[in-house]
Amino acid sequence: MSTGKIIIITAPSGSGKTTLVKRLLANCPQLEFSISACTRQPRVGEQHGKDYYFYTEEEFKKLIEEDAFIEWEMVYTGKYYGTLKSELQRIWDKQKSPLVDIDVQGALAISDKYHNISRSIFIEAPSIDVLRQRLLQRGSENEHSLEERISKAKLELTFAPRFDRIVINENLETATNELINVVEEFTGRREVSIS
Ligand code: 5GP
Repeated sequence: MSTGKIIIITAPSGSGKTTLVKRLLANCPQLEFSISACTRQPRVGEQHGKDYYFYTEEEFKKLIEEDAFIEWEMVYTGKYYGTLKSELQRIWDKQKSPLVDIDVQGALAISDKYHNISRSIFIEAPSIDVLRQRLLQRGSENEHSLEERISKAKLELTFAPRFDRIVINENLETATNELINVVEEFTGRREVSIS
């Protein structure tokens, strides 16, 4: 397939990554969100083909057999997530760069495979306590899944040095500007056209 550039963003769950990614997309028209495939249930308000491509485990496994993924993983017990080759191509075909927002292992897999055409960014919460508070506020986890996300976050933090850039999300404005700078340095600057 013909390739363009890729921006890879990863962060432990609860680092404020989703908010930062939305702000980055609003400021960088050269980027488009790469929609992952997954087998977890949609959360309230999430839509198939917008937030994720939601599949059953059977459908997902069929896609694995067809070699449809750049990378895939069981991110949480029994829950599969993956980046479809067709999704990256869909975005490159529009002369844009996919913004791939995935977990640490998946991010490392893509950045190893596409090192010369990618920039990988690791977003950190200021501390594990802040991260726990953010997850509690979101209210989407039960006690077990909260602890699973926190222990995964602790492990993921140890991988931060393997990324091209680390951004600490202490202040939303500062972190957003840092991210925009990384993207513009790599992809060039594009003005938002207002018509
Ligand atoms: P959530 O269930 O909160 O939407 O996502 C759980 C985790 O799965 C997050 O860390 C998210 O970045 C990761 N994730 C989302 N899409 C992908 C993907 O395509 N591949 C991998 N490896 N992880 C993903």
